[in-house]
Amino acid sequence: MLKLFNTLDRKKQIFKPIKKGVVGLYSCGPTVYNYAHIGNLRAYIFADILKRTLKYNQYKVKHVMNITDVGHLTSDADEGEDKMIKALKREGKELNEKSMKQIAQFYTKAFKNDIKKLNIFKPNKWCRASKHVKDMIKTVKKIEKNNYSYETSDGVYFNTEKMSDYGKLAGLNIKGIKPGARVKINPEKKNPIDFALWFKAIGKGKKHIMQWDSPWGKGWPGWHIECSAMSTKYLGQPFDIHTGGIDHIAIHHTNEIAQSEAAEKKPLAHYWLHNEFLILDKEKMAKSGESFITLSTLIKKGFDPLAYRYLCLSAHYRSPLSFSWESLKSAQNALNNLYQVVARYPKPGKVIESDGQKFKQAINDDLDTPQALAIVWDLIKNDYPENKKMATLLEFDKVLGLDLAKTKIALSKVPSEIKKLVAQREELRKQKNWSEADQIRKQIDKNGYIIFKDNADGTSTVIEKQKEIKIDDF
Ligand code: AMP
Ligand code: ZN
Repeated sequence: MLKLFNTLDRKKQIFKPIKKGVVGLYSCGPTVYNYAHIGNLRAYIFADILKRTLKYNQYKVKHVMNITDVGHLTSDADEGEDKMIKALKREGKELNEKSMKQIAQFYTKAFKNDIKKLNIFKPNKWCRASKHVKDMIKTVKKIEKNNYSYETSDGVYFNTEKMSDYGKLAGLNIKGIKPGARVKINPEKKNPIDFALWFKAIGKGKKHIMQWDSPWGKGWPGWHIECSAMSTKYLGQPFDIHTGGIDHIAIHHTNEIAQSEAAEKKPLAHYWLHNEFLILDKEKMAKSGESFITLSTLIKKGFDPLAYRYLCLSAHYRSPLSFSWESLKSAQNALNNLYQVVARYPKPGKVIESDGQKFKQAINDDLDTPQALAIVWDLIKNDYPENKKMATLLEFDKVLGLDLAKTKIALSKVPSEIKKLVAQREELRKQKNWSEADQIRKQIDKNGYIIFKDNADGTSTVIEKQKEIKIDDF
């Protein structure tokens, strides 16, 4: 029995899919105007644990993730400039469509590399906002037809007053909301919290590099409409689970729900799951400011990306996680210990049922990964036969995704020619001859092996290249 905390009802609920054996899952993806910071990546590690847990419970998962490359303004509440344009200015690029596409492609690739390094399964479907504007226009037309919107000189707005339970996800009382820091006064808006479905490309300062024809003239979509349009295009409405960080509850997800319910007169998703923030010095990690730490920063400092995954698993996804280099070091040490234990174990035997049950109970209790890790260490301390412990750990790793199997391969299959190259590279690294060491690394790579880890004692672990993990398509 899988229980998940549903933000909609503010309690843990037994998960029941719409269609037997299949789960439709949508995760708000990155806005590709910069590298993802490790806070953002916490959101995707959480979604990955959820997806793996669903698979562990024998569900087939259809996972859709969007890439926001248009429409997300610097403030979530229809203000400021498009984050993509901000990125062009930041990087001194020309303000045209070509550079906007290039920048989107660059940061999309960087994001995909990051999630691969974190052993996060790819979604079954990626969808780019700028490729789905027609679908968004269709959704806005439905909202308009059902009388939930109004047109102004600068756009089409959602009339929040028309929806009696607007704000239910966040427990918002709209009557209490006054125009303030977050909601700028627009004299044409009927209510301060009404939000844009479509921006018109007319009027002072109303320019955008990317513009599309629409029934309301040339313009571009509001940010929230992309997730309403793309999630239902690929998963239908309603679908099962929608994920994102807690910052999305009050505005983005609240507005997604309002739009989709107005368009189709039925719920958008049955379960809404939100991860808490990664925080640094008591502040939420954000893409602007000092606290911007990327996965590459961690790798450059010598950490294994999976040590960051381990760190995230050590906290429950609904608890804030305070980041420090010390805590990352502890996670790295714990992971190294785990790899060393596994490396010593013999070939896997049979899974230990009782521990398997305990583990499943933990992850099925709203993805209790700290408890799941405690079960891992208890199992290791136990005096079961090692081949059984090995099998059980590999079973757990289907959910944890710490790549324990690779450590086994590391010790077994490396031929002597490759071992020689590894030794040469270790020597060159000792002499700090990085360029020649890198040449050897490339040679190792060409031969079908990769350096899995450069260990703290100067040795390196090499493994055979793995084929990409295939997940079932739909
Ligand atoms: P963005 O690229 O800004 O649209 O954010 C991508 C995802 O990261 C969203 O699900 C956000 O809710 C989430 N997120 C943003 N900041 C943090 C943070 N500091 N900790 C955890 N998740 C975050
Ligand atoms: Zn979204």
